Amino acid sequence: MKYERIKGTQDVFGEEVNYWYFIEENARMVANLYGYEEIRTPIIEPTELFVRSVGEETDIVQKEMYTFTDKGGRSITLRPEGTAPTVRAFIENSLINEGLPQRFFYIGPMFRYERPQAGRLRQFHQFGVELIGSAHPSADVEVLLVAKHFLDRIGVRDYVVHLNSIGCPRCRPTYRQKLKEYYESHFDQLCDDCKRRLNTNVLRLLDCKIDAALAEGAPKSFEFLCDDCRAHYEELKQRLIDLKFEFVEDGTLVRGLDYYTRTVFEVRHRELGAQNTILAGGRYDGLFEELGGQSTPALGFASGIERLILTLKNQGVQVARKEKCSVYIATLGLKASIEGFRIAEELRKKGVSVVTDVNDRKLNAQLKHANKLGAKLAVILGEDELARSIAHVKLLENFTQVEVSLDVVVEYVIELLRSRT
Ligand code: ATP
Ligand code: MG
Repeated sequence: MKYERIKGTQDVFGEEVNYWYFIEENARMVANLYGYEEIRTPIIEPTELFVRSVGEETDIVQKEMYTFTDKGGRSITLRPEGTAPTVRAFIENSLINEGLPQRFFYIGPMFRYERPQAGRLRQFHQFGVELIGSAHPSADVEVLLVAKHFLDRIGVRDYVVHLNSIGCPRCRPTYRQKLKEYYESHFDQLCDDCKRRLNTNVLRLLDCKIDAALAEGAPKSFEFLCDDCRAHYEELKQRLIDLKFEFVEDGTLVRGLDYYTRTVFEVRHRELGAQNTILAGGRYDGLFEELGGQSTPALGFASGIERLILTLKNQGVQVARKEKCSVYIATLGLKASIEGFRIAEELRKKGVSVVTDVNDRKLNAQLKHANKLGAKLAVILGEDELARSIAHVKLLENFTQVEVSLDVVVEYVIELLRSRT
């Protein structure tokens, strides 16, 4: 029997892990620079949470959720996104008592049953932030700045920020009506899904991958905003212009989730082909109430880590290679092996990474392995050395070797490493 990983999932190992460290470390650092704290929510949630928030008539809920019944008969879903769980946690833990605004970030796996292809997986990972408790356009600016700062810091180039406002429950009905009229006049060209969604959720038609060409000629949402939404949008744009924050207005940009209000945005990369959206987000002022909480304005974004890694690789960005160990302790015989383990522990307590032989191999094989691991030096310990209470310390870059008394070998190694960096 041969076992294979589930379609649309990835094993990450070797060099690839460095990209993950690089992105996760930078995500945490940038989040912290703006005062965002980590929130970790469960991977499983009640199905209803996503139906209620993401929306009944969205691709995520209709086609993409990993939903199952657990042994207690509850309907459980592997989270397809991170905003609804964050809002659920905020309400459930009465975090509002800590005052507003509050800033959160998360990093973790999401699950969607999609057709796997480059940059589109069934288990993928997102870095996301949520700024909770401000309706002011300056909050939108901040979240966009976090996104830009993050992308710039990891070295993504040639991206474009697409911005739009899709209004609020007050002005959206007008827009929806205009959109419906537009698409009705092109009814024959619509895909089957869109023919149905025309009456249930007409905004979704703009997001349809099949009917993308039709969207280009569709009415633009920012032309139908009520006064408040317009003022919000205008101030947001003006602030961005004043900050020399580059963006393009995209009046038919809607997002694939129903909870958005007013500001929506997507960051697209010029070279990533069909899966070119590397970051996306927006405002969700109605979501807290929708999920049974106190009305609280908020916004956020999420960025797909796999797509970021693809982008960095396409651009030829190399990430720092972590050495696997600094010191290799090569030993021959039982007594030397025991002594080697003792020295290794002493070094590790001082923060030096050490690998020892665990296969009782010949010296040559051990030194070969030390080289493969990229160790800087090897400590060699055999019967002879033990008898004389010494070890040989070998610099692996030039094979020079010195004899060091066992009493001071730990200090010697630390000093030598320090002088070589
Ligand atoms: P798309 O239009 O590409 O399907 P989306 O609108 O469904 O994206 P969001 O729900 O906004 O995506 O998620 C935010 C980001 O997460 C996306 O911009 C993308 O970078 C990433 N992402 C979404 N779905 C996947 C997936 N199946 N595999 C890999 N990354 C994904
Ligand atoms: Mg999608």
